[in-house]
Amino acid sequence: MKIYSFPRGGIPYDDPTAPQKDSVANAFLPAISIVPLGISSDGVYPVVTPGALVKEGMLIGRASKTGTVNAHASVPGKVLRKISWKDNDGLTTDALVIKMEGAFEKLGRKEELFQWNGMSGPDIQRTISELGIVEMEKNGRPLSEMISAARRKSKKLTLVIRCVFDDPWLAADYALCRDRFDAVIEGAAIVAKAVFNVSQIIIAVSHRENELGETLLNEMKKYEYQSALVLTGSRYPQRNNRELELALRIYEKKEEMDLGALLILGPAVLAAACDAVKHKRPILDRYVAVGGSAVKRPQIMRVRIGTRIGELIEQCGGFSDKPYRIVTGSPLSGREVMYLDEPVGKTCYAIAAMTKAQAAIHKQQNCINCGECRAVCPVGLDPQNIYKRIKNLGLDNLGTTGCYGCGCCKIVCPAALPLSEIILEKKQEGKIA
Ligand code: SF4
Ligand code: SF4
Repeated sequence: MKIYSFPRGGIPYDDPTAPQKDSVANAFLPAISIVPLGISSDGVYPVVTPGALVKEGMLIGRASKTGTVNAHASVPGKVLRKISWKDNDGLTTDALVIKMEGAFEKLGRKEELFQWNGMSGPDIQRTISELGIVEMEKNGRPLSEMISAARRKSKKLTLVIRCVFDDPWLAADYALCRDRFDAVIEGAAIVAKAVFNVSQIIIAVSHRENELGETLLNEMKKYEYQSALVLTGSRYPQRNNRELELALRIYEKKEEMDLGALLILGPAVLAAACDAVKHKRPILDRYVAVGGSAVKRPQIMRVRIGTRIGELIEQCGGFSDKPYRIVTGSPLSGREVMYLDEPVGKTCYAIAAMTKAQAAIHKQQNCINCGECRAVCPVGLDPQNIYKRIKNLGLDNLGTTGCYGCGCCKIVCPAALPLSEIILEKKQEGKIA
């Protein structure tokens, strides 16, 4: 079978310190959970006050503006207080601290079943919005807003299920896809119904996971949508929407077909959409890959939202060595963790705790003009030149570059120059687009 990939740049990426994909452990239920009201919670207002008793899955934060979603209690218990903290990028997150007590409404009980076949598209979308379903990575864009945007985009639309694993730190996503393939596919059918104009569903799977792709395709036959399996490359950043779309446009041309606009969604958000519409269940937990060279026993865990990162590391045997850098997400593009009390939120798919050696912190040297950074940039940029203009020439406003911070240039640089970090810093300041 033909394999489709993006035309230039990228790197093969492996990391033996990421957890193995074979098994998933249930993390302990947290006695104290810190449930975020949002990624940057401006616009999400608590609807409960300290001292209130909350049930598992109960609404605790109401979204009031675009880009935010409702928050729900992941455990039953008493609300102790509201707290806030600032991350490395200066973003403030508000959260409610809940002390677990009382009975679970959903855990260990047979889930209620709601028939969604008879629901209208707007009803499905309303349920998804009410239950706070977000894209469970990056900035956590509300799924309901993605559905609205897709509906407006084009008459012809293809829904793409993105099961592309170009980074070993996506192990939790892979495990979810394998263990809950039926929920992923049913979630895709549910979202397709909400969007209205989906003409087909493509399952994009990295070629090494061909078998998983066949399982997903087989499950898709239960639904009325025209579907196809497309095998992609596994070079990083193949999973990125831009690179995935480039690969799918090559497929479209070869097959002489018209895919129209693409709505690309990962397996975690699709399974969450299925839980929301079929079981009226908000996102209460998620699969997280916990590992890195500073962690004793890396493993994938099913974790309640609001569990503290330090607690999870304890459950992995604790630190084997002094951690130098801890990130949520992949070491390539993750967000720095400032405190071990930070909780797992809806978008946290991995936690990597790295020793100094793994964090590849060695003395920076001068650029040796090897050209590696140019060779791997999937956008065709000259990262060395951009870096030089910012760092050495002090140029502040470089306008549009097209860089989206994949991190490939930084990884391959033998002089250990923080290429993508400097570019991203300027992007965040609005000096580079
Ligand atoms: S971080 Fe930006 S400049 Fe560097 S390889 Fe990725 S897209 Fe290119
Ligand atoms: S990879 Fe590093 S050393 Fe090589 S050209 Fe780019 S900036 Fe210079």
